[in-house]
Amino acid sequence: MTELLLAPGAPHAADAPVLELVGARKTYRTGAVEFEALRGVDLRITTGEYVAVVGPSGSGKSTLMNVLGCLDTLTAGTYRLAGEDVSALDEAELARIRNRHIGFVFQQFHLLPALPAWRNVELPLVYGGVPAAERRERAHDALARVGLGDRVDNRPGELSGGQQQRVAVARALVGDPALVLADEPTGNLDSTSTADVLSLLDALHAAGRTVVLITHEHDVAARAGRVVRVADGEVVADGPGRAVAS
Ligand code: ADP
Ligand code: MG
Repeated sequence: MTELLLAPGAPHAADAPVLELVGARKTYRTGAVEFEALRGVDLRITTGEYVAVVGPSGSGKSTLMNVLGCLDTLTAGTYRLAGEDVSALDEAELARIRNRHIGFVFQQFHLLPALPAWRNVELPLVYGGVPAAERRERAHDALARVGLGDRVDNRPGELSGGQQQRVAVARALVGDPALVLADEPTGNLDSTSTADVLSLLDALHAAGRTVVLITHEHDVAARAGRVVRVADGEVVADGPGRAVAS
């Protein structure tokens, strides 16, 4: 069911929320100390939306993304992904959803240094059980799409930061996910590489994917159709891109 509902262009998907948080709370416990990183977040994101999440450091943006990406679970409240209550799913099902439907891009690239670019890019397909020859072809295609067709055999250390992030974007899109989550993907990049990565996200959105971009840079957020502003674990503003971003 999840597959059908998440597929770009699914007939009933246009106005149904693909991501829905209701009263979402996340409490971290460190020893005896508790910290409430999400304090009752209500958020609905519809298939095909491009949403930027902005807010100061420590406001709960990464916590929110980890929940949306099924990397972490809520302490209270509900998270429905394509209509399914995520709290009802076990770790294997969550892993399967992450692998099949969600592409992740992180600030720190998270590439494996010992592997050439194409081997990094094929990893989601390895976990997805795709045959080796097809993996190789799709990884090479994905690298060509991010403009790195001539760098497939380079290891991350042989690439610039911007190129490494494009490898990470290729890895995020190789499995053709319906949802792309990017957590400060341009935070470590110069302005040229930032523009490259943002263009790639724009293209993913234009191809029908739902994109959630976390950033603290307002000019970056202004590219999205909608900006959600978070402060102290709460949504404090939610509206059209340019209005809320500035
Ligand atoms: P942001 O991404 O907006 O900078 P985070 O979601 O990373 O914010 O963190 C929100 C708050 O939760 C911060 O105060 C942070 O210190 C705290 N926090 C995040 N992760 C953990 C964790 N694993 N254990 C304890 N506290 C955490
Ligand atoms: Mg963060």
